[in-house]
Amino acid sequence: PTRLEDAPVYIDYDVSDRIATITLNRPEAANAQNPELLDELDAAWSRAAADSEVSVIVLRANGKHFSAGHDLKGGGPVPDKITLEFIIEHEAKRYLEYTLRWRNVPKPSIAAVQGRCISGGLLLCWPCDLIVAADDAQFSDPVVLMGIGGVEYHGHTWELGPRKAKEILFTGRAMTADEVLSTGMVNRVVPRDRLDTETRALAEQIATMPPFALRQAKRAVNQTLDVQGFYAAIQSVFDVHQTGHGNRRDDPDDRNDDHQFDEGESLVFAMLYHGSPSIDCPGAIQFMSST
Ligand code: ZN
Repeated sequence: PTRLEDAPVYIDYDVSDRIATITLNRPEAANAQNPELLDELDAAWSRAAADSEVSVIVLRANGKHFSAGHDLKGGGPVPDKITLEFIIEHEAKRYLEYTLRWRNVPKPSIAAVQGRCISGGLLLCWPCDLIVAADDAQFSDPVVLMGIGGVEYHGHTWELGPRKAKEILFTGRAMTADEVLSTGMVNRVVPRDRLDTETRALAEQIATMPPFALRQAKRAVNQTLDVQGFYAAIQSVFDVHQTGHGNRRDDPDDRNDDHQFDEGESLVFAMLYHGSPSIDCPGAIQFMSST
């Protein structure tokens, strides 16, 4: 644990002018989220939340892609037989509790997203209060191809509205930055080479506002969503997600059920790769071939 706080490997952290900048720094793997990256990311969020010198939090990513999703390898010993209990325990902490905690940090946050943002990648940008997308950003959640009805944290319906939520899930296709702008999922779309400067300018503008009022404004919106059922729905659909994992385990024809984790191979990518090699998912393919 001390290693994560003292010298993070996958996360860069910087504070200047009341803005904390958290950077995903695993570009060689398209910022795939292994457990260490997520633990370091959670530590960075906690640090920014606790620091009275920080008014605004920016989450950005190094490299071509924001994040290609989850990567199970590296989270300690993986049992020979992956049980549903193991999956739920792993996912409840890192894909549900972390995401909700980041969403509830009482300071404004802004995600800057470029390139691919696939499945678990959504769990990093959705909890941010604002999202600035580069014009090359593409958002997708192709897990129906893996036999599962959507990634663990069901932001889809809240972010996209019910019809677009169904479309992104039913088709598995990537939606462009302009397309999700029209649903209100992102605040603005900027040229790729302006992503950092535009995000920084927005953060600087917000950082001039009174911190306590910002906190109350954020709470007003989040509390409204919670009264509408956001929190209960997120918890409920997490369990729906787990029935997907359970069903896959019960399917005798599913060759992925007893998949052994090879060196450098991830759960999600292995499933994507074996389940649908033709899927348009270059971040994943790039990761597979680089290991
Ligand atoms: Zn899952």
